[in-house]
Amino acid sequence: MQENVPHAGRGEAGGETIPHWHDPEGEAMTIVEGEDATVYDDEGAAYLDFVSQLYCTNAGHSNEAITDAMTAQMERIPYVSSAKGNDVRDALAADLAEIAPGSLSEVYFSISGSEANESAAQIARTVQDAPKVLTRWQSYHGGTAGAGALTGDPSTRSTVGRYAATTGSGKFLPPLPTAFDADSPADLAKQAADHVEFVIRNEGADSVAAIMMEPVGGSSGGYPAPPGYFDRLRAICDEYDVLLIADEVITGFGRCGDWFGIDTEDVEPDMITFAKGVTSAYAPLAGVIADDWIGEAVREEGYDLGQTFAGHPVACAAGRAAIEEYESHLIDDVRELAPVLESRLTELADAHDAVETVRGRGFLWSVVFADPETGEPFVHPWAADADEAEENPVAAVREAAAEKGVLFGSGRPDVQILISPPLCTTREEI
Ligand code: PLP
Repeated sequence: MQENVPHAGRGEAGGETIPHWHDPEGEAMTIVEGEDATVYDDEGAAYLDFVSQLYCTNAGHSNEAITDAMTAQMERIPYVSSAKGNDVRDALAADLAEIAPGSLSEVYFSISGSEANESAAQIARTVQDAPKVLTRWQSYHGGTAGAGALTGDPSTRSTVGRYAATTGSGKFLPPLPTAFDADSPADLAKQAADHVEFVIRNEGADSVAAIMMEPVGGSSGGYPAPPGYFDRLRAICDEYDVLLIADEVITGFGRCGDWFGIDTEDVEPDMITFAKGVTSAYAPLAGVIADDWIGEAVREEGYDLGQTFAGHPVACAAGRAAIEEYESHLIDDVRELAPVLESRLTELADAHDAVETVRGRGFLWSVVFADPETGEPFVHPWAADADEAEENPVAAVREAAAEKGVLFGSGRPDVQILISPPLCTTREEI
């Protein structure tokens, strides 16, 4: 029997078809090449990659500035122990401190977004001497044990549910219109923030180290917070001595039109976690950027987050080159083209009865669908995975788009398509 093995494309091993390692039924497409906002499958078909693979190839595919920087680092020295100094790693840490808001300047590298969130949670527990890190229901913060416990997406429960309850992580409702009976965005902001205060008080403020959330909900549905929500959360965190952690794994590095999604809210978090776009996904790299005082406190505790591949020099070289690309033009390009993307999506919404809402920011948008006959979503907005409709027309929209040569993402629950093009996407491609 043919084993499922990692392989770049089908039919390439002595003429034999090798199933996709993750997809034994062979349903997923096999992507073998890419350039800028376009990817190509193993039969040569081109697709506009309007999901940046997994919301991560922010600078687009095959960017030469990034690949050249990685090659140069490979030739100098590919790897240096994470316990030693390294010029490119130190320089990237300085770059990150420079672009992070306010006094966030202590950088702790890790390899994946899941580990970055685990690190942030552990740092919060250490410096606050409290066990709980509270997150939103329906959020995604990663799949490892600790990050899986932070994740509030019920569809991941089958893998993380058994131990999630043991790791000190409570949940609160996201600021979505479906979660509160609010009559305006300001009312929604107030109700949703008051609810977070209620949860902190009821968990016991002394037991809560931090709250963690995405500035713009990513795989949970591409939604920005209503104006005023983050201001109020910052005030609540200060009042109860709870840290505010922004998970910027998707929203960072130009995705929402700023260096970080939280920049738009004009609120300073205590920590930011990052991954994906930091290297434009050219190599795995992630981490935490913490406020100065947190760095001091971590040093006093002697807490060591060291991982062998944390801050890998080739990934750091990719990160420096990607940041240069974002800085030199890509963030400006997003600011210029985001209104174009928004107005084209809004036109779609106006023309189709089944489109309920279009929402997002920068180059992170979602088109939310509802049954035109009943006005109800095709799956319940609080659906856990098992409740999702078997024949969900939203999935059919994605499939039809792929047939027409455009790739979109899916959110949980599956009531929307997510649109997250590379930042180098042109006006014509939009
Ligand atoms: N945080 C958010 C908001 C994410 O969307 C993801 C992954 O998609 C993660 C954390 C986990 O990152 P990784 O897949 O790199 O472990």
